[in-house]
Amino acid sequence: MADLIVTSARVLSEEKKRAVAESLGVSLDAVTFTVDEALIGGIVISDGEKVLDASVRRRVSDAAMQAELHLTNAPLEHILSSLKEEFSHLPKAEITAAGIVRSAVDGVVFADGLSRAKVGELLLVAGKYFAMVMNLERDRIGAILLTGMNRVRSGDEVRLTGKIVTVPVGEALLGRVVGPLGDPIDGLGRITTDRFRPAETPAPAILDRAKVSEPLYTGIKAVDAIVPIGKGQRELIIGDRQTGKTSLALDAILNQKGKNVYCIYVAIGQKTTTVADVVNALKKGDALSYTTVVAANASDSAPLQYVAPYAATAMAEELMYAGKDVLIVYDDLSKHAVAYRTISLLLRRPAGREAFPGDVFYIHSRLLERSAKLAPRLGGGSLTALPIIETLGSDISSYIPTNVISITDGQIFLESGLFHAGIRPAVNVGLSVSRVGGNAQPKAMRSVVKGLKLDLARYREMAVFTEFGADVDEDTKSVLDRGAKLTQMLIQRQGAPYPMAEEVAEIYAMSDESFRHVEKEKIGATLARLLEHIRANHPEILSSIEESGELSESDKAALDRAIAEVLA
Ligand code: ATP
Ligand code: MG
Repeated sequence: MADLIVTSARVLSEEKKRAVAESLGVSLDAVTFTVDEALIGGIVISDGEKVLDASVRRRVSDAAMQAELHLTNAPLEHILSSLKEEFSHLPKAEITAAGIVRSAVDGVVFADGLSRAKVGELLLVAGKYFAMVMNLERDRIGAILLTGMNRVRSGDEVRLTGKIVTVPVGEALLGRVVGPLGDPIDGLGRITTDRFRPAETPAPAILDRAKVSEPLYTGIKAVDAIVPIGKGQRELIIGDRQTGKTSLALDAILNQKGKNVYCIYVAIGQKTTTVADVVNALKKGDALSYTTVVAANASDSAPLQYVAPYAATAMAEELMYAGKDVLIVYDDLSKHAVAYRTISLLLRRPAGREAFPGDVFYIHSRLLERSAKLAPRLGGGSLTALPIIETLGSDISSYIPTNVISITDGQIFLESGLFHAGIRPAVNVGLSVSRVGGNAQPKAMRSVVKGLKLDLARYREMAVFTEFGADVDEDTKSVLDRGAKLTQMLIQRQGAPYPMAEEVAEIYAMSDESFRHVEKEKIGATLARLLEHIRANHPEILSSIEESGELSESDKAALDRAIAEVLA
């Protein structure tokens, strides 16, 4: 049986050939000797399935792969010393299972001969592209290509690396726009960091977590008052297309300026121009310096769109575990689910409801579980998540929306009808909730928002019934009147977040007796005048609320006086 093939860089002497055959324990004619100068030195022995590779070429390419994996963004000295280190650890010979690509379509490859592959493992395809194992089948594996999208062909060699996908992390990424694997795409040059994290890591355990107790202000009145968010919380932003979802999340990022909160915005499957608009808005609002934008655009492959939120979360975790507060926006997870569906169908996994694979819940739960408020012994950092979901026809009971609603700690439901009626942000008060943020709301806010949500919900309900000019009694009239005015108060321009104390001042003013006589149409302008007046003449009220987090009796008295002055 001429089963073994021995390849060497140079022609072997007869004596050497005999020695090789002897050490392999076979007769000389059972071995085929070939020469391949590309090996540089050493030999490679193969039985058609396993390969014992003791060539110089392998060691060089292993070192090169390490460089590709970990060092592309590192400073030059670091690259050199790491390569040296890497070389000294490389085994002289290595038995690898060399698989062969059998098909490569739309970023999904099937390969055989890799029976020891693990799910999530990184593969090296054709010596230079990377893929991630997704499917283990009886006689083949399925993987998604992370690089070399249209360059991998059937017949290419595939090798296991024993590693998983890692991305560059650290403060060097702030102020940058990067691709899903952390490579810069903003034309601002290399990102110099020597920190890396796996894209997927287990979420912090229960004992590693603390209660959500500190507020994360969005600067949006309707949110901070009615669906308050705490650091470490996951609050879903859900609504039809063009209802202000992205704007709301962006405003929350803009509002973190000077608050020591780092932000990560992940764009999944969006148009390149939309992402450019977001980056410009961040730049204009002076918010890019503490923000990283991770973009897997609609033109990127489904595998890259799938990996993007996990990679971005790794970048956020690096900061969280360093004790910092981080806000991450996933815009949006509907498109992420669609990318996963595409991959799954190409991998020929069985399709379930709406053609999504059965584990689509798990891809979002394991992502959002990584948000946390860490226990003090772990530094007390936090990761707050604002995932976005797009609905069709306001149907929040379809598959993906219900999944993500059940994973998060509440949702902000934006409604088309309200949006088009000019009530922006278009928060549907009745269907929006925050399950944990209430504990984090400062006392000042809690004292003024009592009854606010109920008043608004009752108003919206009654407004529907009285739309056709039905006769109403005095009680109903006053509910309608107050509701309409509160609604006006919550209307807010895009890109103009409010400081907490100013939100409190406006909401407080709405329950003032003399404010009841201000007409609905004039509410917005009157409140603006009030704030201007307070900022100019009584700034101490605002600083007192901001610093203590409370609304003291003397603050209330001072606000009453300011209101009287403005309405006089
Ligand atoms: P898409 O479904 O396309 O992603 P979206 O739900 O993310 O849309 P945005 O892009 O945030 O919605 O907003 C849609 C439009 O509404 C934009 O033109 C934006 O400028 C405008 N808009 C959003 N919020 C407000 C607001 N508070 N006041 C006025 N206009 C707003
Ligand atoms: Mg959007």
